[in-house]
Amino acid sequence: MDLIVQKFGGTSLSDDQSRRHVLRHIIREHEAGNSLVIVVSAMGRSGEPYATDSLLHLVQLNGNSLPARERDLLLSCGELISASVLCSLLNTEGIPSVTLTGGQAGILTDDRFGSARITEIKTERIHKHLSEGLVVIVTGFQGMTSEGEITTLGRGGSDTSATALGAALSAKVVDIYTDVDGILTADPRWVSNARPLSSVSYEEICNMAQNGAKVIHPRAVEIAMKAGIPVRVRSTFSDSEGTLVTHAQALRNQGIWHDRTVTGLAHVRHVTQLGVVNHNGPADLQLKVFRAMASHGISVDFINVMPTGVHYTVSENDTHKAIHLLHELGFEPHVREGCAKVSVIGGGMNGEPGVMAIIVEALSDSGIPILQSADSNTTIWVLISEEDLAKALQALHTAFGLHLA
Ligand code: ASP
Ligand code: MG
Repeated sequence: MDLIVQKFGGTSLSDDQSRRHVLRHIIREHEAGNSLVIVVSAMGRSGEPYATDSLLHLVQLNGNSLPARERDLLLSCGELISASVLCSLLNTEGIPSVTLTGGQAGILTDDRFGSARITEIKTERIHKHLSEGLVVIVTGFQGMTSEGEITTLGRGGSDTSATALGAALSAKVVDIYTDVDGILTADPRWVSNARPLSSVSYEEICNMAQNGAKVIHPRAVEIAMKAGIPVRVRSTFSDSEGTLVTHAQALRNQGIWHDRTVTGLAHVRHVTQLGVVNHNGPADLQLKVFRAMASHGISVDFINVMPTGVHYTVSENDTHKAIHLLHELGFEPHVREGCAKVSVIGGGMNGEPGVMAIIVEALSDSGIPILQSADSNTTIWVLISEEDLAKALQALHTAFGLHLA
């Protein structure tokens, strides 16, 4: 008997019709004789009654008056509502189930309310219920401290609950059900012919998730990767198997990387480029600038340090603070707001000549200037003007043949 973890996101649980689809996937795996642990998110999106953002909104009206501990108590309710509704639906289908909070499921965390880390998972209780023939429903996004306090794992944390449970239970697979047909070659709102991928490596999806693709939480992938548990990202609303996330070596063995230097594109908008020219000696400037950013909690990206000065980016929200700090240091920064960071990601690009040449050609043929670039062995990043984003993504998507199956 195989153990499968199925995680259902908010849009999969938002209304009765969606929940019928959820039920279909549970019944299929149940009838196939699998043991099932179901992880649920809060229902729906911002604005819908029990969504996490809606719960937050209830207290935002009162300023920041709710302490972090109590905020986590409030936030944990969304998942509890989903889990209870799902339990009642399973009962109507004659499938016996039990609902557990994160703490009851044995998910122990540290006490950083709002962004707790899982420290341990005690699986005895889940194993006991599975051996009783029950489907175990676990509320995602939450755990419990050793003192019995309820904690939440940070926004998007129910993916982490799912892969952490999958790892602790040595699941055969963790299925992340969402509202898209798996991991796409690019964001379909920007690239009309973006296409689902049948498989990606853990590293590739981590890069995609860290660079703006919102399909799965990067921390969830890291946990699965460490434990070597396969993950499938798939749609609740279809029977497609979606995208298998697995080890790079498995893709290499299947020859997939042989014909795929680039796997997909991701992007981040609302980025500001800052440049500071050096007048007084490089070390002095470099140290002053990055120390000032660090001590004020401003995260920097796209960092280019040269004897002539430094270039880097900050998110739009930090722009004014960053400029103010630079002025305080006596620098007159060059500021370019409204930039976007495009990531060209592919585990197969390592050591392959010509990838940057294709990027430069595609963008320059479309008249798009590259403002800055950086690279690692699986990703090339280019900074462009946000105005050029749609054109750039489409040009790169075509240049790498990502629309072709
Ligand atoms: N409901 C939580 C959130 O909206 C957790 C999740 O959906 O993964 O962040
Ligand atoms: Mg989510």
